[in-house]
Amino acid sequence: MAELSGDGSYALGVVAFGIGLLVGSFLNVVIHRLPRGESVVRPRSRCPRCGHAITALENVPVLSYLALRGRCRGCGEPIPLRYPALELVTGAALLAVAMRYGASPEGLRFTVFVSLLIAAAAIDFEHQIIPDAISIGGLVTGLALAPLCAWAASGDAAAALLRSVAGAGLGFSMLWIVGFAHARICAAAGRRFPHWPGDGEDFPRPTALDYWTWFPGMGFGDVKLMATIGAFLGPVGVVEALVVGAAAGLVLGLAWMLVQRDWNAPFGFGPALAAGAVLVVLCA
Ligand SMILES: [Zn+2]
Repeated sequence: MAELSGDGSYALGVVAFGIGLLVGSFLNVVIHRLPRGESVVRPRSRCPRCGHAITALENVPVLSYLALRGRCRGCGEPIPLRYPALELVTGAALLAVAMRYGASPEGLRFTVFVSLLIAAAAIDFEHQIIPDAISIGGLVTGLALAPLCAWAASGDAAAALLRSVAGAGLGFSMLWIVGFAHARICAAAGRRFPHWPGDGEDFPRPTALDYWTWFPGMGFGDVKLMATIGAFLGPVGVVEALVVGAAAGLVLGLAWMLVQRDWNAPFGFGPALAAGAVLVVLCA
């Protein structure tokens, strides 16, 4: 870990926060378009109500929202607060990563990782899915960056790759076993979930792929996300992230049930796992 002090740390913090705002602005586009199967590059964003094309000046993170007083310049439609909020959260998260790891290869690796986690958590919260572009794309990125950043820091690239592969395998296995065992126990006990199996469907049989990959209360996207978390954190970190994430999930899930006043209110496990992983990056 790089020791920082004085002006260098201050300048790095400002740069990291600024980059975080821009990354957050891009994540807003990703979070909106990826689950809908749209390109994240083009076309230019438009107001969903009046079709007014958002100009570059109206697209400056946070500042444009304040200057426009939170309304579309074309029709006055309120812009959801979650847009500037996500930019600020991403800015704060990347600032924290920079303060913890400095301007180092590890700092870069965890900047990518935390950005991925924020996108995964926000999409899972809104749509109860984690797109493969994030989970599988993140897994490949994690496996590639581990040896690359170790090499850039004059470390052992082969050992870093091995750690990354072991973490991914462990993360995948741990969550898959939990989901699979839970599914079999629920099926044996005859417990029913709203969408597992669907109306008029039977419980999946061992000859069907669904038997191995379709679990109640936890999507296979969470299993793939845990593999990504392992690829970035290694075998020790991924266990820590799961423990912290499960605790966070318990608290967040209970709070969500209380707010919804429904003991079966659906709550994605993804945001809790992502929160656990971010805490491990910043505190472990
Ligand atoms: Zn408008």
